[in-house]
Amino acid sequence: MSFPALAFVDLETTGATASADRITEIGIVEVDESGVREWSCLVNPGTPISGFIERLTGISNSMVSEAPAFAEVAAEVKARLEGRLFIAHNARFDYGFLKNEFKRAGQDFRATVLCTVKLSRKLFPQHAKHNLDSLIERHGLEVSSRHRALGDARLIHQFWNRVQAEIDPDLLAETIKTLTARPSLPAGIEPAVIDDLPEGPGVYLFYGENNLPLYVGKSKELKKRVLSHFAADHAAAREMDLAQQVKRIEYIETGGEIGALLKEAELIKQLQPIHNRRLRRNDELCFWQLIETHPGEWRPVLMPAGEFEFGPQSHWYGPFKSAREAKRVLAELAKPHQLCHALLDLESVKPGKPCFAYQLRHCKGTCVGEEPVLSHSARLMAALSRHRIVPWPFAGPAWIKEGSEVHLIHHWRHLGTVCNEADLYALLDSSAPSFERDSYRILLKARERMVPLAVEGNH
Ligand SMILES: [Zn+2]
Repeated sequence: MSFPALAFVDLETTGATASADRITEIGIVEVDESGVREWSCLVNPGTPISGFIERLTGISNSMVSEAPAFAEVAAEVKARLEGRLFIAHNARFDYGFLKNEFKRAGQDFRATVLCTVKLSRKLFPQHAKHNLDSLIERHGLEVSSRHRALGDARLIHQFWNRVQAEIDPDLLAETIKTLTARPSLPAGIEPAVIDDLPEGPGVYLFYGENNLPLYVGKSKELKKRVLSHFAADHAAAREMDLAQQVKRIEYIETGGEIGALLKEAELIKQLQPIHNRRLRRNDELCFWQLIETHPGEWRPVLMPAGEFEFGPQSHWYGPFKSAREAKRVLAELAKPHQLCHALLDLESVKPGKPCFAYQLRHCKGTCVGEEPVLSHSARLMAALSRHRIVPWPFAGPAWIKEGSEVHLIHHWRHLGTVCNEADLYALLDSSAPSFERDSYRILLKARERMVPLAVEGNH
């Protein structure tokens, strides 16, 4: 059969993240009409190889210390890959790493990519596993040096040959065509724009006619997510509708998922894109704060989000999207917990007079002195506990390191993101944003990763 020139590619790297980790070895099997050529090369990653990776690949720091840096072999790698179908197992990984290394070397690299994990999945859907070890076992592939670049590239080549022999040529051609098909992009969006999207985490922005912000989204895998918007098989009409309106795409790379979530929340609030369904307006956000009026006696006070502040023993509950919502939630809790409507200020009653709930026997009579405020307070706290804002666990601000970024957080508020820890202190002087529900939820999940900021005496 006739096929275009092929390159079976495998890389060894210092880790799993294309933006932060580096290539340590490249293996390429070139196949075309003139035959099969193998090439491999160790690469000095310019960064230490961890013990774990060394044990996995057998590539040690001393092996790469004399090897050329990627920039020195870039031209050769490009010449070997140019004009060929780029075939790799979990190709996004290898393609992403190469693109990043070329970018660092100041060069552009693009190829049509075929992933053999996806190919295997399409051709052998009856199997659950499609990792290289499963393929070796299933197709009886001959292993020369597993986890080395050329060894694994040879395995992919062998798999390819098995597939050529076993699968109906028409079906195979059709499958490859589907897997290598370019997404149908809206008019005006250049394929290069998509190609340049990072594989890693970040935020993307879609703009429409007249630069109108249409949509802000985030992903751990930016390119994959953006492409999914333009996939032809959208079930939902509104997704289709959005895809057709896009005139321009912007993106912001982030150090990780937390950074992407925070940036997304910030941009949605700032730009109010028309296709973001959850438009969060913070204007009316409020809390119940429990205030101790006498020892052990607590009463709820409605507080706007701007007043939000943590004392060491503060009791904040919420946030609620409006005062009305806050009152509705409290009223709903009152009945099963037998709380007094007069004490909760849900009903205005003259002092000493029974609240309406008391007359229905839903209140234990705090309003008429039958129940001490003390025991009412205990039930009130229990009733609200599900809504309690987790007390800020540190004396001062804390930071989260994520990839190449550091986020500074205080009282669950995101003060900013910088590239290194020394710059965190500059953020302390900036005015804190008001409490935001989205950021709170994001940060609460990341609480284990927070490190208290060492603040000098007078801060
Ligand atoms: Zn009452």
